[in-house]
Amino acid sequence: MASSKPRLRFAPSPTGFLHIGSLRAALFGYLLSKNLGADFALRIEDTDQKREVAGATDSLVTILKKVGIEFSEGPHIGGAYGPYIQSQRQDIYHGYSDQLLQSGQAYRCFCTEDRLTAMREEQEARHEAPRYDKRCRDLSQEEVNEKIKAGGKCVIRQKMPLDGLVKVYDELRGEIVFNAHDLDDQVLIKSNGIPTYQFANVVDDHVMEITHVTRGDEWLGSFPKNILLYQDFGWTPPKFIHMPLILNKVGGGKLSKRKGDVFVEDYLNKGYLVEALINFCVLLGWHPKSDKEVWSMSELENEFSIDGMGASPAIFDTEKLDYYNSYYLRQKSVAELTALCLPYLETAGCDINDPRIPSFIALAQDRLKTLGDIVEATAFLFALPEYDQELLCWKTLTKEAAQENLARLKPELEKVGASDWNKDTLTEKILGWIKDSGGKNGDYLWPMRVALTGLKNSPGPFEVAAALGREEAFRRLEIAL
Ligand code: GLU
Repeated sequence: MASSKPRLRFAPSPTGFLHIGSLRAALFGYLLSKNLGADFALRIEDTDQKREVAGATDSLVTILKKVGIEFSEGPHIGGAYGPYIQSQRQDIYHGYSDQLLQSGQAYRCFCTEDRLTAMREEQEARHEAPRYDKRCRDLSQEEVNEKIKAGGKCVIRQKMPLDGLVKVYDELRGEIVFNAHDLDDQVLIKSNGIPTYQFANVVDDHVMEITHVTRGDEWLGSFPKNILLYQDFGWTPPKFIHMPLILNKVGGGKLSKRKGDVFVEDYLNKGYLVEALINFCVLLGWHPKSDKEVWSMSELENEFSIDGMGASPAIFDTEKLDYYNSYYLRQKSVAELTALCLPYLETAGCDINDPRIPSFIALAQDRLKTLGDIVEATAFLFALPEYDQELLCWKTLTKEAAQENLARLKPELEKVGASDWNKDTLTEKILGWIKDSGGKNGDYLWPMRVALTGLKNSPGPFEVAAALGREEAFRRLEIAL
């Protein structure tokens, strides 16, 4: 099969949750495939079964769909290059490892786990990089046969060149040169017959006719070994684009769980919007030509290209993520935002059938960094917090004067009927009355606002009165009086 189109893939290991770095890999792969008019496949790399988590593939598909990343092929939709789960492709890998054994580019290694562990420990004690000492590399065919006959378990290792240079090409970094001497004879097939990630990944990229690989730069170290495999088989490698490292903002260092959340699910649960995550993630290694900051997925689908990608490390700045999230939260209609906030309010035990909720949400909208913030931002609306009477006193206003002012304000508020009880009418009527009576706004509005909210800082008194509704507003005024 020869595809006329470029082909890209996202190849996650199903370890349970989607790491932010993996979301970026998926996003860059998706956007680049749009830019190149390419097919985009999802391939599940489950060769490391120790790390595999049941149901992980389904949740991966669900979350990628949720963030708007679509595939043209994959385990969930099929396609011409399937199966798309590596554990279902074992025969393919064995065919290729046999080929390398026959051509002498790979060998069987019978060294026991104990021997390898002892070797590793000695190397570590000498501060050397752990590597296999190639003991089985030159076993004769007879020796191999005898060991197999005696029931010896073996792995299959790739034969690295003993000296010389290995040159590889990354689209963002140009040529990178490695010393062949530094490369370990890596395992291609484990003793249980399962291929390693390093082998299955190369075989699949070739067999699936992948033309561009976008992956994290943690794979740069194994890049020369990958390229040597392509050379051993006589295959043309795809173009490789290693995306830059993502560093923690605080203290630098690779983005790690210890320094905060690293999984997309964590962010979604806290109430970060998909739009904000996408906008934030795309700027971890892509530099748009203009200084436009806000990018929707459809704009990215048109604008993203490899020219804008860079190799210097990207900083994971959650303040920037908050900035995008607040921005996108402010763009929502009250109805949309209400629907998104209800689950958070429900979990917090609020009465989600309260008809005033949309007005509560509207009041809090501009102050939210995440959807989860809605609980704290609206708590004073659902229930009046206990507050110190002193709070009612603005500047030099005494308690008695505050009480007197509230008592004078009350009949003015009573003149505003239920059908006029909204922010604009309340503002107009009450400000008009204060002006006419020659008072100072703060002497009336501060105690009114505190009476309604119980808080030192809050939205203004008229908006709060409107959101609470006439009846609740008077109940709170009575409490203050
Ligand atoms: N399974 C690898 C990972 O999860 C894929 C790396 C690649 O895209 O080649 O990082």
